[in-house]
Amino acid sequence: MTDIKVKTVSKPGSLPDESRLGFGAYFTDHMFVMDYETGKGWHDPRIEPYEEFSLFPAAMVLHYGQAIFEGMKAFRTVDNRIVVFRTKDYLQRFNRSAEILCIPRMDADLLEQALYQLLKQEAHWVPGRLGTSLYIRPFVIATDPYVGVKSSDTFKLFIILSPVGAYYASGFNPVSIKVEDKYVRAIHGGIGEAKTPANYAASLRAQVEAKEEGYSQVLWLDAAERKYVEEVGTMNIFFKINGELVTPKLNGSILSGITRRTVIEISREWGVNVTERQISVDELFEAHDRGQLEEVFGSGTAAVISPVGELSWKGRKIVINNNQTGPFSQKLFDYVAGLQYGNLSDPHGWVNEV
Ligand code: PMP
Repeated sequence: MTDIKVKTVSKPGSLPDESRLGFGAYFTDHMFVMDYETGKGWHDPRIEPYEEFSLFPAAMVLHYGQAIFEGMKAFRTVDNRIVVFRTKDYLQRFNRSAEILCIPRMDADLLEQALYQLLKQEAHWVPGRLGTSLYIRPFVIATDPYVGVKSSDTFKLFIILSPVGAYYASGFNPVSIKVEDKYVRAIHGGIGEAKTPANYAASLRAQVEAKEEGYSQVLWLDAAERKYVEEVGTMNIFFKINGELVTPKLNGSILSGITRRTVIEISREWGVNVTERQISVDELFEAHDRGQLEEVFGSGTAAVISPVGELSWKGRKIVINNNQTGPFSQKLFDYVAGLQYGNLSDPHGWVNEV
């Protein structure tokens, strides 16, 4: 166990009204911080008050985007325990993103220890209503004050915490999606597999235009041919076609979702045939025309499962399952939520008490 120094706030805050949390607007009293310097390694792990910090205007992250982040959650179970879900998998992905962005590897065991210690200290910030949670945002930024393009020699790591409301406060609503055939999110040989700000910057223009056109999200296609499906908004995508579950195969430009992995693993346990492969938009529309496109849904930490009700492509719109949440989407959502809120036993060891 590493010794983590703690400096506490003089006036602790409190959890806002749980019905008004929304997403990502409130932060807890404390954060975890650690520094890196070439030659010295990662050092000085500490818990400090959540507050502003200083950076030089030349700090490299502000100019060239050398940064990574993660997004996971802590939950308050029905019997009032604080638990986290698949933390080791998220931290492993954090290190994979670090590798892609030339950021020095972090000790995942230390990060896990730091996260548990921070969560214990901030336990009163974990909301309790069904659907609410404490969103956990670890991130690393490059801090060298230097405006030449290179990999930084200094970095700062943070873990900040944000109580968030129920994603489906007004029920499970299927969304309308635009198949994006102009802009792309990521390319083969690029950094699409990393959780790094550049990928989100690259997605904004398409997202803004789709919203203006009345869609809630875009379905991203491959950059080379604009033919194969990659992801939906900031989620992975699944199609239930004639009883089989199909999802795009990880190819370097798709983020390897932890919820995607969960969906694949539990679907297989339930006896569903799951295939990870290339899938074209043509194939989807053909399956729809044959009456075999049964369900479409996105998977991600924020919403767990997000049903897709309509897909529009080149002036054609198809409606999936009468714009209703399909039974399989609902079953997956109920199972994962059941694990996270402690209503179901956890044979996989995905749920860990803090
Ligand atoms: N794709 C992208 C681009 C994302 O940002 C996310 C959210 N992290 C996902 C997929 C879903 O990943 P996860 O299930 O790990 O949240």
